[in-house]
Amino acid sequence: MATQDSTRWKLSLTSNRLLQFLLTNRYVQPTVHVVSVSLFAWALWTAFTGTSNPNENFASVAFFSVWWSSVMLVSLVLFGRVWCYVCPMGAIVRFTQRFGLERHFPMYSTGPKLKLFGVSLSVIMISAAVFVVFGRMPMYKLGVVFDPQLIGIYFLGFTALAVGVSLVYQRQAFCRYVCPATGVMSVTARLSPFEIRQNADTGVQCATLEYKSDYLSTDRRCVSCMKCTTQNPERDVQLRARWPGAAAVRQRIPLPDEALLVIILWAVFPIDHVLGDHVEVFVPFGDPWLSVIPYFASIAAAIGAYLLANAVGTWWSGLDWSDSFTMFAYAYLPYSIMYMLGNHVIPNWLEEGGATLNALFNGIGIPLSLPEALASESTIAAWDWFNATIWPWLGVLWGAVIVWFAAKRLTDVDGRAVRAIVPHLVLLVLTTAWIEGHLGSLGLF
Ligand code: SF4
Ligand code: SF4
Repeated sequence: MATQDSTRWKLSLTSNRLLQFLLTNRYVQPTVHVVSVSLFAWALWTAFTGTSNPNENFASVAFFSVWWSSVMLVSLVLFGRVWCYVCPMGAIVRFTQRFGLERHFPMYSTGPKLKLFGVSLSVIMISAAVFVVFGRMPMYKLGVVFDPQLIGIYFLGFTALAVGVSLVYQRQAFCRYVCPATGVMSVTARLSPFEIRQNADTGVQCATLEYKSDYLSTDRRCVSCMKCTTQNPERDVQLRARWPGAAAVRQRIPLPDEALLVIILWAVFPIDHVLGDHVEVFVPFGDPWLSVIPYFASIAAAIGAYLLANAVGTWWSGLDWSDSFTMFAYAYLPYSIMYMLGNHVIPNWLEEGGATLNALFNGIGIPLSLPEALASESTIAAWDWFNATIWPWLGVLWGAVIVWFAAKRLTDVDGRAVRAIVPHLVLLVLTTAWIEGHLGSLGLF
């Protein structure tokens, strides 16, 4: 039943008997995991034994065209961390830790903190570092995505790491800190207009207890282990709507580590695609340094520019440096995500979606022969035009709205809020104009 209270629209999922069964029965998720782990194992097998053409190899298509760039990004932007419900790696982690030493991983709230840029960073930075060094860099800078066998080695390596961490540490330490996707999901989930969650604390001992994630929520850092629902089946589970990005403004525990990760995403998604071309000409070495050095240069440049904007904003407004650093990074997130959707995910599906589905279904023995493109040439041209003109600026506008409400949480004085965010908006607008102009000059639009 859909209801409307004074603040938001919500739909009670557990009022439907089938959905209640699916959400609260303790055997449903393990059954889903049997399927997802089987597909994962099959993908690993085909990585080594299938065709070397990455566009036709099942593992290559399943891991990158379908899972990483599409299922992850689109589901995150719409619903938050729902992927964790099906994730085979999460299933392996949960299974393995039963036989482990159950040691405590250093917690973000009590573990050692590193002071950097005037803000306190914690073990949460492990996820950001793993994403930068062992996630994005090998995939796209060292060419893993282009070689099915390397894909197999890469995911086997991560599986071994997940098993190793789980054999030593308890409470899904791998999911909380080491998974290269976990930090990215935590921040990106805050943009989603929908959230699946229980309506109150459950009292269940949570895998992410330290973040006060004590009820199922596809927002925040919950890893959707479903303990909350299976151990407390009477508690209502709802699909809730909210303003996209409201969760970034109303964070229960804002973390500077996650703000830094947002800036890293801004660096490795749009900035690196353009700055990398400029830096590359100064690199005196061949591959892989020709890709790797511009990649790290983009990260350093983005962090440096953000620090400068924050310095000017806090000096001008008098707001706290650390609070501004933590809250204003989300201004840069919508454009970063929309850049990836607009330039990669959507055009790839429009232009090659049929071929992708053919490779995916043929890989599991279901014959399919769709035409390569899923859209007509005129539709593709219309998308290219929209992506070159309006789409990126919607991302900038979205970021501006988020950062305005974030500033209003830090001060009641409108003038101070404006002075605090103007440097960030100037930086965001100038870099977006530069990036979009560069892509246009390359004839990519
Ligand atoms: S945190 Fe990572 S490994 Fe854990 S369930 Fe989610 S995606 Fe899978
Ligand atoms: S116990 Fe509940 S809040 Fe914690 S990770 Fe599992 S589902 Fe999420």
